[in-house]
Amino acid sequence: MKATQNKTAQIVSWTAYPAVIAFGLILHGLLLNLGYPLQVSTYIPIILGAVIITFLEHKFPYRKEWLPNTSDVKNDLTFIVLVQVILPRLLSFFVAIMLLGYLKTKGVTLDRYWPHHYPPFIQAILMVLSADFLRYWLHRASHKWYPLWRLHAVHHSPHKLYWVNVGRFHPIEEALQFLFDALPFIILGVSEEVLAIYFVFYAINGFFQHCNIELRLGFLNYIISGPELHRWHHSFIIKESNRNYGNNLIIWDLLFGTWFLPKDRETETLGLKNREYPLDFVNQMRTPFIKGIDQGYL
Ligand SMILES: [Zn+2]
Repeated sequence: MKATQNKTAQIVSWTAYPAVIAFGLILHGLLLNLGYPLQVSTYIPIILGAVIITFLEHKFPYRKEWLPNTSDVKNDLTFIVLVQVILPRLLSFFVAIMLLGYLKTKGVTLDRYWPHHYPPFIQAILMVLSADFLRYWLHRASHKWYPLWRLHAVHHSPHKLYWVNVGRFHPIEEALQFLFDALPFIILGVSEEVLAIYFVFYAINGFFQHCNIELRLGFLNYIISGPELHRWHHSFIIKESNRNYGNNLIIWDLLFGTWFLPKDRETETLGLKNREYPLDFVNQMRTPFIKGIDQGYL
């Protein structure tokens, strides 16, 4: 019985990532073809992806002690709803739409700088590549420059990793990320159809990146910023956490010398230098403004 369980765990560790990502993207295309609205076709695969990943975390945990308790989940869900769902919508409306309107009145259109005639899937790949390049440098700066680290420390505060804490970002940092990974593409006039493909991949990949599932990505660790790499990015040891900045892809880390995946050991302690750093949503709204609360950068 144990041997069968081990075999299943092994199969899951190698297949879960590609299977769920493919499932999400194929389902998204299928729902669109069946005539469902874009929002429905985008959120259904993401929600199903989250359900599958939650099940796998409980069935095949990487570390049993990293399974979240009710208070962790409550705080993380507050971050997801307010910072990841509501805030980007407000930003899209107030910043992107207003900016686009303003540019139009000035006769400025930047549409010609994007290959709108390419198939949507190819455009989405181009978007992942370029958005990740911009996010790589924002992320690297967030670990090296104290004013940005104060905001980014919120994301590094948990002492364990599981998929729901993917959304733990201070709203000011989330707004900065929006300037780097959504706004340029909205200004370039990238279609909603392409943005939706990008978003399905971005969301499910993000869940996996933080997940507590025993996974092996093999050669994908040279392309995708997956959980094996990202756990090192959350290490308590600063010279380990100042690696693997990739948001969706890891290729920019490979190119700029920050790729890190030791073969002979596993991640140990996670989180910030300040072990007393508050972990609840309300307190984390003000921690970036408390001078010297965590010096775990550089
Ligand atoms: Zn970071």
